[in-house]
Amino acid sequence: MILNTFDVNHNQQQVCILGSTGSIGVSTLDVIRQNPQFSVFALTAGKNDTLMLAQCIEFKPDFAVMHDEQSAGRLKSALHSHNSETKVFSSTSAMCDLVKAHEVDIVMSAIVGAAGLLPTLAAVEAGKKVLLANKESLVMSGQLFIDKVKKHGATLLPIDSEHNAIFQCLPRKMQKSGHNGNLLEQGISKILLTGSGGPFLKRDVNTLSSVTVDEAVAHPNWSMGRKISVDSATMMNKGLEFIEAKWLFNASVDDIEVVIHPQSIIHSMVQYRDGSVLAQMGNPDMRTPIAHALAYPSRIDSGVKPLDFTSVADFSFTAPDLSRYPNLKLAMDACRLGQAATTVINAANEVAVSAFLSNKVGFTDIYKINAQVLNKMPSAQAITLDDILDVDKNARIYAFEIINKEFA
Ligand code: NDP
Repeated sequence: MILNTFDVNHNQQQVCILGSTGSIGVSTLDVIRQNPQFSVFALTAGKNDTLMLAQCIEFKPDFAVMHDEQSAGRLKSALHSHNSETKVFSSTSAMCDLVKAHEVDIVMSAIVGAAGLLPTLAAVEAGKKVLLANKESLVMSGQLFIDKVKKHGATLLPIDSEHNAIFQCLPRKMQKSGHNGNLLEQGISKILLTGSGGPFLKRDVNTLSSVTVDEAVAHPNWSMGRKISVDSATMMNKGLEFIEAKWLFNASVDDIEVVIHPQSIIHSMVQYRDGSVLAQMGNPDMRTPIAHALAYPSRIDSGVKPLDFTSVADFSFTAPDLSRYPNLKLAMDACRLGQAATTVINAANEVAVSAFLSNKVGFTDIYKINAQVLNKMPSAQAITLDDILDVDKNARIYAFEIINKEFA
């Protein structure tokens, strides 16, 4: 793909959004809309050419890339009829080319699932400021990902509200040394990763097998895409975040503790050896971590309502009940087992959640599928990118086999 870009205003930070039509993508554009020091260089998405068209008309990016070729075709002709100068491409490799363009200052990585891995790694290899929402890419490739961040001098800032909160509660020295930092040397005794417990925190465990898709995606506090909403209901999301925290903060498994905080006002905490606990708080709205990371180390408007403490009725904390959330335990076990296991659990979970969302398996079957796939593949190697893609592919094949055999 040959990049032939239009004039760029060099006072502005040029942003490329991977996954602009999703929940994080839309929130990112809303923050950019309020902050003219950022402009949109490129937008990418999967299939939603209708929303992409509206985004291209409003934000006038130089480039738009759809994963799906037919969607790209429709987008191209619609943009043509609007006399738009946005150039349209399709394919993952076009996304990888775009994030590397020298005009790009910031890449928002917000594709859902493993599909985000290659474009995110391309942004890292180009040494960009990478805002990481796509936790699955770090879960899949942990050490390789972090080694590339270090090697290419990329800046990696977390978008997940929990990791963004932890980052904000770290000493500035640790924020700078990032993935090389030493928690102990900084006087940190624990990372407290909070989670709401999702929509089924209080539901009778014996009824979880009859949970419907609509019930599972109805998160009490956050408005998110369907996959992460189901992951939040099973708490696999917290498991993936546990693995993500290990890599982002150079932590050991024992440095991280999951705490249920149903109100989602505290987004996570850092405990220090002197007994101090620093927390980051705010209304549950992803525009806060997005604005924080876009402008870091400055602060900008996000459009999020200020937190009114007088209206916060309750502030409660409990330990997670792992019998209610077996996927959380499975992901923490995978984290202890190592890279291949976390690649496997991510792949199996994507297949299982997708099968649940299309009503092929039940809610509690997600765990059964994930556990079976993890048990079958504990000893694979996952060091190089080829290894990782191979482990990912085999785990998906096995998950599909289980679904076809046991749930068809
Ligand atoms: P959504 O499902 O809302 O959006 C996903 C985006 O990825 C869409 O733009 C979609 O395009 C695009 N996409 C899907 N498949 C492909 C593909 N093969 N190639 C290119 N693009 C693709 O997800 P969210 O925004 O909720 O989540 C995105 C990521 O951010 C996930 O990794 C999630 O875990 C993480 N995250 C999300 C949070 C949230 O509040 N939503 C919070 C913290 C993390 P299209 O729709 O056009 O097909």
